[in-house]
Amino acid sequence: MKVLVIGANGQVGHQVVEKLKDKGHQPVAMVRKEEQQGQFEDKGIDTVLGDLEKDFSHAFDGVDSVVFAAGSGGDTETDMTLIIDQEGAIEAVDNAKKAGVKHFVMLSSMGADDPKHADQIKAYMYAKHRADEYLKASGLDYTILRPGMLTNDAGTGKVKLFEGGTEVAEVPREDVANVLVHIVETDKAENRTFYVHEGDTPVEDTI
Ligand code: NAP
Repeated sequence: MKVLVIGANGQVGHQVVEKLKDKGHQPVAMVRKEEQQGQFEDKGIDTVLGDLEKDFSHAFDGVDSVVFAAGSGGDTETDMTLIIDQEGAIEAVDNAKKAGVKHFVMLSSMGADDPKHADQIKAYMYAKHRADEYLKASGLDYTILRPGMLTNDAGTGKVKLFEGGTEVAEVPREDVANVLVHIVETDKAENRTFYVHEGDTPVEDTI
């Protein structure tokens, strides 16, 4: 399966690309700088240059599934949150639809369901919420994944995956990547929104 990973140079995105490759898929790592391509191409992984602030529609040619794992980062101002996390994601949905992509997987965030009641990073929650709602209404087959606080702990291959709820917990980035790959591979995740925390259920048994 040809899978475009947007945000492939990021901490989650990078792991998604490598895990897809290990499982025999054809990931395409979308990065925005030429110097970010070599780390993938040295491993036989295809790359495409694409910047969410410019036209990146060329990246979707022949793509079966998209994983959107990009983000402007925690230290940026609100305008970048709107430009990348909201408008970049929305344009990715439009591009995917035009290109006939079969499944769009959005890496969202815990709290994005109810931005009005977010305690902090409210603009980020509104941006994530708006992008998620746009995807849901797009007509594309979608899956939205809303993780808790991301950590750099080693993944365990086990998580708690659930549909709805407000509890707060952590989850290793590697296990988020494991779940994203599982979502790409299963046909049972379409048009559903999941939350993920660290937990005890093997990823392959969650959906
Ligand atoms: P990350 O390491 O910051 O990765 C984000 C990626 O987005 C980076 O590779 C970055 O590219 C890319 N990006 C930014 N602007 C771009 C642009 N204009 N065009 C193309 N790519 C662009 O983030 P992460 O730790 O992997 O997390 C992934 C996402 O999970 C976050 O963005 C956030 O939305 C979500 N999330 C985070 C938390 C948390 O606790 N931190 C919790 C829930 C959800 P460069 O490498 O070139 O800068």
